[in-house]
Amino acid sequence: LSAEEQAVVERIEQENIDFLRLQFTDILGTVKNVSIPASQAEKAFQKGIYFDGSSIEGFVRIQESDMRLDPDPETFAVLPWRRKDDGGAARLICDVVDTETGEPFSGDPRHVLQRAIDRAAEMGFTLNAGPEPEFFIFAKDEGTATTQPHDTGGYFDLGPKDLASDMRREMIYALEEMNFEVESSHHEVADGQHEISFKYADALATADNIATFRSVVRAVAEMHDVHATFMPKPIARINGSGMHTHLSLFTEDGVNAFYDSDDEFNLSETAYHFLAGILEHAPAITAIANPTVNSYKRLVPGYEAPVYVAWSDVNRSALVRKPAARTPASSRIELRSPDPTANPYLALAVMLQAGLDGIDRGLEAPDPVRENIYEFDEDKREEYGIETLPGSLGEAIDALEADDVVLDALGEHVAGKFTEAKRKEFAEYKTAVSAWETDRYLEKF
Ligand code: GLU
Ligand code: MG
Ligand code: MG
Repeated sequence: LSAEEQAVVERIEQENIDFLRLQFTDILGTVKNVSIPASQAEKAFQKGIYFDGSSIEGFVRIQESDMRLDPDPETFAVLPWRRKDDGGAARLICDVVDTETGEPFSGDPRHVLQRAIDRAAEMGFTLNAGPEPEFFIFAKDEGTATTQPHDTGGYFDLGPKDLASDMRREMIYALEEMNFEVESSHHEVADGQHEISFKYADALATADNIATFRSVVRAVAEMHDVHATFMPKPIARINGSGMHTHLSLFTEDGVNAFYDSDDEFNLSETAYHFLAGILEHAPAITAIANPTVNSYKRLVPGYEAPVYVAWSDVNRSALVRKPAARTPASSRIELRSPDPTANPYLALAVMLQAGLDGIDRGLEAPDPVRENIYEFDEDKREEYGIETLPGSLGEAIDALEADDVVLDALGEHVAGKFTEAKRKEFAEYKTAVSAWETDRYLEKF
């Protein structure tokens, strides 16, 4: 065992852990896990744990189903709500290995991200990413989730209107027990809507964190008999839930490669190229960062969510915002399109690869747009050369299939399975008849 693995085995002993949950994520972003008794930890580290990959969405066909999980010792965390005197549970996030070749499995989202990270490293960079996931808390009715907001607080409200602040506190304690550094939490704009943001970290740790975050938030809400949802637009005509992602590249010496004190916005050449890469590939990125039918109900004008492909240092209607930075280390860009239904590994992989493509090709970023783009008409958008994000999941998949850089970022296996699953989802949606339609037409015609 490596020193790190040995340390995990010792902690399992100290913390009185009885069960280990070995986790990984499928292509659509669902966390899967298999539980093993803690006594199997050493064996799991030495030999891995075998499982049948054919039952996992988008993994492999039945005839090539043997897969192996290799636990990553750095991801060891005790599950706070499982902590009991008579033995608790902990999780380890795993890499998936193709047993036939002994190589990382090309359908493993964590590996897709690792490939992007390796490419960045070859170019001398590490990506730091800081996400801001938003979510709603809804009341339950006899055990079933409703869309009745659990409180009526608004942006930055304080209790008693913000009924959920105690619950948010519990979520934060649980996250901290799982090694998160939570930076802030607040009530968001809409009734029942919240945000908890945690400290940026390297891309892999951030993707692991997002996956963990979603399960912690939902588990704590569940214990209060309410429902927390990351659905992007559960209620029409009020703000939806995004997952803004702050991005910066650091050099090997830990210097922020996005910072330049001489620039008007304190952004370096590298940052502008990266930004230009993000803008160029924005339509295809949308398929990954906004992967559900409902995601596109959020990406409409008027609710602080982006619609137009532009960047700004002041306005929140743009796709990319340059937040004010107090220190060189915090110079960064904020991508505002992602929502919390995205597979965090794939989303960070395509953002990173798009930005690196911008650096590779020396792409030039356009000037920032400082006005409210929601108020532009088509002529003005044309004059400024501003494109629009895909308007539906179908359009986003078209954009993805037309973008070789983003397809390569995903790799053939993931790109193929992802587009297949999403085309099917969109086709189902197109033939479904919604309440809006029956409300509008049933009695009129
Ligand atoms: N909820 C908004 C969105 O859909 C973002 C609000 C904010 O700026 O935090 O992206
Ligand atoms: Mg927010
Ligand atoms: Mg933000």
